[in-house]
Amino acid sequence: AGELPKPEKTRVLTISNQKGGVGKTTTAVNLAAALARQGARVLVIDLDPQGNASTALGVEHRAETPSVYDVIINDMPMDEVVQKSPEFGALFCVPATIHLAGAEIELVSLVAREQRLRRALDLYLAGTSEPYDYVFIDCPPSLGLLTINAFVAAREVLIPIQCEYYALEGLSQLLKNIKLIEKHLNPDLVVSTILLTMYDSRTNLATQVAKEVRDHFPKEVLNTAIPRSVRVSEAPSYGQSVVSYDLNSAGSLSYLEAAAEMAHRGAPRAAQEPPRGDKP
Ligand code: ADP
Ligand code: MG
Repeated sequence: AGELPKPEKTRVLTISNQKGGVGKTTTAVNLAAALARQGARVLVIDLDPQGNASTALGVEHRAETPSVYDVIINDMPMDEVVQKSPEFGALFCVPATIHLAGAEIELVSLVAREQRLRRALDLYLAGTSEPYDYVFIDCPPSLGLLTINAFVAAREVLIPIQCEYYALEGLSQLLKNIKLIEKHLNPDLVVSTILLTMYDSRTNLATQVAKEVRDHFPKEVLNTAIPRSVRVSEAPSYGQSVVSYDLNSAGSLSYLEAAAEMAHRGAPRAAQEPPRGDKP
């Protein structure tokens, strides 16, 4: 595989959509793998108590495994929980365990409850000897404190959209929430990337929704859409991304292409400067 241009600084993206089942986890795992395969150093933070990203990346996430829960709730340094994925040398994961299900409530009474992931991630990124090119945060399908932590830790939002009837409707609510986060908690946050997922070009509906989304967000939507493909849905049960599971399948090729597009587009300007620092 060819090498992609590397970002100047680590790009931290949260994969968000308050709808479940739209391809958030699938996109986090497969874009990460697709970038790693093309030479990038990538970290996936699993912030969903379901732990689907951890499963799909084939990393340990039994209850007793040190995880993102310990980082957020117990101030454990992130480097003590990061695991290397078995597929690629430069693909890493902060796993989620079942404990994370309680974090939503435990966070409420903690100091700096919205900033905990950001602080831990910034410390980790500042201390790693080999810098990461990308960090992807896989969010649960709700706007609770975990998702807010992801919005605060990230510079970019990547929204996966399933091409169906209610896609745009759900999107306006999501964008309102992001505006609120931008105003109150993270002024640097930018919706940089929209990815059409589970796209079936044979249906009129999908084509129509895709067109509408592209008309509304001409800059953000990637040209590559991810097709609906059985190989994509099979891969997680083997603890693999589709890129490893079936490199030449349509799903794998489309994630490789989407990854290349992201790399070539680079970070959005607003997300490049000013340098990350403590917020007042
Ligand atoms: P979310 O994280 O938003 O809840 P998932 O990534 O878990 O969504 O995807 C929901 C379901 O759809 C999963 O069973 C997944 O395997 C399947 N899926 C996602 N993308 C595709 C695709 N391109 N082709 C076929 N199945 C897909
Ligand atoms: Mg998910």
